[in-house]
Amino acid sequence: MTSPSSSPDPAPEAPGTPDSTPTCDVAVLGGRLSAGILATVLAAHGARVTVVDDGAPPAVPQSAMGVHASALIRVIAERYEVPELAHLATVDGVREHVTTTVGAEHAHSFLYHRPGRPLNPDELVQVCPPKGSPPDPHYYRPEVDAHLLRLAENKGARVLRGAKATEVAPDAEGVTVRLAEGEPVRARFLVDASGPDSPLVERLGLREEPTRFTTSTRTLATHMRGVRPLESVVADRPEEFRSPVAWSRGSNHHMADGVRLSVIPLGNHPEPGGDGPFGVTLTVDAGTAGSTANSPEAEFREIVSRFPTLAAQFEGARAEGEWTVTTRDQHSVREVVGERWCLLGDAAGYVDPFISRGLSTALETVNVLTWRLLRALARDDFTPERFAPVGEFLLAHQDANDQLAAMAHASLRDPRLLKSVLFVLEVGFRYGGFPMMIAHARFRSTGDDSELRALETLPHTGHVFPGHEGFYRLFGATATICAQVRAGTLDADTASERVFRMVREADFVPAAFEFRDPSVRFLRITPVTMLRLALWSFRGAPKDIAPLIRGGLKAVLRGG
Ligand SMILES: Cc1cc2nc3c(=O)[nH]c(=O)nc-3n(C[C@H](O)[C@H](O)[C@H](O)COP(=O)(O)OP(=O)(O)OC[C@H]3O[C@@H](n4cnc5c(N)ncnc54)[C@H](O)[C@@H]3O)c2cc1C
Repeated sequence: MTSPSSSPDPAPEAPGTPDSTPTCDVAVLGGRLSAGILATVLAAHGARVTVVDDGAPPAVPQSAMGVHASALIRVIAERYEVPELAHLATVDGVREHVTTTVGAEHAHSFLYHRPGRPLNPDELVQVCPPKGSPPDPHYYRPEVDAHLLRLAENKGARVLRGAKATEVAPDAEGVTVRLAEGEPVRARFLVDASGPDSPLVERLGLREEPTRFTTSTRTLATHMRGVRPLESVVADRPEEFRSPVAWSRGSNHHMADGVRLSVIPLGNHPEPGGDGPFGVTLTVDAGTAGSTANSPEAEFREIVSRFPTLAAQFEGARAEGEWTVTTRDQHSVREVVGERWCLLGDAAGYVDPFISRGLSTALETVNVLTWRLLRALARDDFTPERFAPVGEFLLAHQDANDQLAAMAHASLRDPRLLKSVLFVLEVGFRYGGFPMMIAHARFRSTGDDSELRALETLPHTGHVFPGHEGFYRLFGATATICAQVRAGTLDADTASERVFRMVREADFVPAAFEFRDPSVRFLRITPVTMLRLALWSFRGAPKDIAPLIRGGLKAVLRGG
């Protein structure tokens, strides 16, 4: 068994009494994306892995990838030496190696709707990645998840499809997983990625009731076909809706007071448009009536019918397959690691679909768990202290996601407030990828992953821009302002003015970002932006951001 970037330790015999002899090193419950990646990497390093997945249809037809998720997949592929995983990081890679049903994110657009009124072109924001950079993929998850399980098998993992774990019993020597049918699985370590109904959470009574998360939303989701492209719905006003990137060339996030509707095109590559499919995720306040009164389809139609532009877009759209409905999205656990086990993905808790932070968090967890687990297997040392940092990391991510989702949802009261929040987030995302890109570039040139490990303990880990005190304060102040709006103690106009002013006055936000003008609708990064940013890093940028900018831009230029 190999442990990347560490001296290989001899793998001792797997321990166990005759009755409890491990049949594998690691049992992975659940067979979706993060579980599939983890199983693949562990198996590629010689671990004996058994994946137990009941093969139930996907609970959630999610498809959106979060910001930086592709970059993270590239890091995992290289750090853990499984080049096939890198295919998932690009649209072309997915098309060539996995499935032709894939979305291309050429831009992400946020469009604010008001009941009874057509979409106002002044109330939208489009975020465009740097010109010429390849689009991130959006996944058609049934096919990507199945591909990953096959990949794990190719690397040597045993995959039990259609096997339901009925009971999970951890002890000091390992974990026993009993199945509805067939022999139990005995493992030296268990990773439970079986989603919100995790048998381990049930067995150990880990559920946090009530949840500590403050966001309170619920979601209806499905795949659809026949969603009209926005540009065709607003074709009578082409000048007003002219945008740097055609609206249908990326995700559209329709926002209204208390409502978020994400439409992720999965058939927009190589050409925009097409019949679909589309990943459609509607998120509303958890308290909103409807989940029991109406069918999901009827509730979806009723909400969409309030907004004329949306109504036109969805008029001929039809759901493909079942709807997934939650009564409340948020759930959490008290502990995510313990003796011989770790929770992964939604088994460890879930906040909200906003910008897919759940998926990024699961991928981040795979990244920080894998090297520890490989070492633990090699040294036969599973002391909980080894895994405690994974738990702290994951809980910190969840709490940051909660703050972000609550802030975003509260900002829906008003389009200007929403826009000001998007400005704050975009500042974070523009810088937030740099630490990982720099560490990744260093890893590529030296083979040493110590900088990647150091990212785990950056201050404010889990936030969109970890490691920077000024951004953390800006984010926190924005969250407080949005909470005041939600509580009715601050009006949305004053709130948005305050947030725009904070962005304008933040010494780490350069003029090159063009966030000083609240009327800006298109947030673009051009070669000129990069050049101005580079110059600013030498002349004028504060000391706590200048080296990061220079390092980040260098990594970008090297193709990071
Ligand atoms: C309505 C909704 C919409 C969402 N939309 C998005 C989105 O657009 N983008 C995004 O990134 N995230 C989205 N999410 C979040 C996303 O669904 C999860 O973060 C992601 O699915 C986590 O995957 P997972 O592998 O942890 O769990 P799951 O996807 O729940 O997978 C668990 C797996 O374990 C299997 N399993 C369960 N119990 C057992 C058992 N006892 N024995 C064996 N196997 C078992 C299940 O069949 C399943 O295959 C959404 C969530 C909700 C609730």
